[in-house]
Amino acid sequence: MSSLRLNLICRHLGQNTTDQFSKSNLKTPYVQDPIDFLHLDELLPADLNNKRKQLRAALEANIAPHVSEWYDKAQFPAGLAEKLRPLNIFGITEEKYGCRKVCPLEKSLAIYELARIDASLATFYALTLSLVAFTIEKLGSEEQKAKYLPKLCNLDIIASWGLTEPDYGSDASSLETTATPVKGGYILNGVKRWLGNAIISDIMIIFARNTVTQNIEGFIMDSKAKGVSVTNINRKLALRIVQNGNVFMKDVFIPENERLEKGHTFATGANVVLEHSRMNLSWMVAGLIAGTYEHAVKYIRERTQFRAPLAAFQLNQEKLVRILAIYQAVFLMSWRTTMLLVKGQGNVAQASLVKGWCSYMGREATRLGREVMGGNGIIIDNYAMKALVDMEVVYTYEGTYDVNALVAGRAATGVAAFKAGYKA
Ligand SMILES: Cc1cc2nc3c(=O)[nH]c(=O)nc-3n(C[C@H](O)[C@H](O)[C@H](O)COP(=O)(O)OP(=O)(O)OC[C@H]3O[C@@H](n4cnc5c(N)ncnc54)[C@H](O)[C@@H]3O)c2cc1C
Repeated sequence: MSSLRLNLICRHLGQNTTDQFSKSNLKTPYVQDPIDFLHLDELLPADLNNKRKQLRAALEANIAPHVSEWYDKAQFPAGLAEKLRPLNIFGITEEKYGCRKVCPLEKSLAIYELARIDASLATFYALTLSLVAFTIEKLGSEEQKAKYLPKLCNLDIIASWGLTEPDYGSDASSLETTATPVKGGYILNGVKRWLGNAIISDIMIIFARNTVTQNIEGFIMDSKAKGVSVTNINRKLALRIVQNGNVFMKDVFIPENERLEKGHTFATGANVVLEHSRMNLSWMVAGLIAGTYEHAVKYIRERTQFRAPLAAFQLNQEKLVRILAIYQAVFLMSWRTTMLLVKGQGNVAQASLVKGWCSYMGREATRLGREVMGGNGIIIDNYAMKALVDMEVVYTYEGTYDVNALVAGRAATGVAAFKAGYKA
């Protein structure tokens, strides 16, 4: 091969045939959008794509500059609701009760864009809409919907969703919090763990076992009700802006009209909500990978080692391309899952397969992003380490990777493999 031809090929690949790398060889990347290699954005309707671009601009202008400080201080900042409200992203599945309609794809893209800035914010949004508002919309009475949904969508109240307990995480359907029927309502006793927003919430959805039917039912509990106490889970090393707490309930009276009207078993209540919420969570992974990739590619183009930008080294390019490839797969799977949800064809096994696998691969993508940034990759402002630890939670909450794999595995084989052949 002639040296002229070799030089041309090397220039095209961004490499240099001489010892010293010339900065002029660092061309503008060929792709239009740094991460949208396969033009996947074209799969999105134009109106939603435009709305998404506006959301991105607003988040970058008003929220992103503060995130490192909030994360560092592990603070849910006062006034965040005022910053989030103008984004106009809160709503329910139909235009009703004074709330705007947010379709599944719009919600997914909002989760993506928030996570691209910070996964705690995306978690706050998903918790409010996919867990709390959806629970009330799907399982609540007309009176409960009219009372709570407008306040939730306008962020006039903040809410928690409580299924997990100290002794029951993956095995949530074995929970021990009790709801004892009494005249005019129920008495709740028990402990919940990990509830997002717990110390700042006005209301909590609590799932408890009815002592008469032994079924698991949902209740809307006033966080200030007599007998409720909350402790924050401090020293948390991930999702540091979201405040997670333990909730202790000692003889808490819940009036009959605050018991959720529908879904009086685990399968028809809490699990229906979890399945719905899980359909969106891989978008959080896509957002985390996008944020990681954008920071990583900028960094390795700017930083020089061995007299060449880090971007000029084959190993770094391979790692970057691995992130890119994972992103394309995560985006496509997320998009397809949301489309199935829109068509009313989505099922629990699909949601588990996609949420589980995407978070599994998301771990690799964020780790690689951190890796190519070297030591600076662990600084909060450089995003990747924050994304990496936040990805650990996405991998764990709303069903760990393992449990989601077992849900998909059950569908694939017809055999449930959740229970170990072990007797204490
Ligand atoms: C930051 C954060 C926020 C959260 N927010 C909320 C919230 O708002 N509301 C709420 O109700 N909950 C919340 N959770 C709880 C979350 O859903 C649980 O952590 C999750 O379900 C896992 O339960 P666990 O932590 O008790 O782990 P465990 O169930 O104890 O599991 C530990 C390990 O064992 C594995 N394992 C368990 N069972 C099996 C099995 N059958 N087969 C194979 N492996 C298995 C798991 O995959 C995991 O690796 C939150 C958790 C975190 C960390």
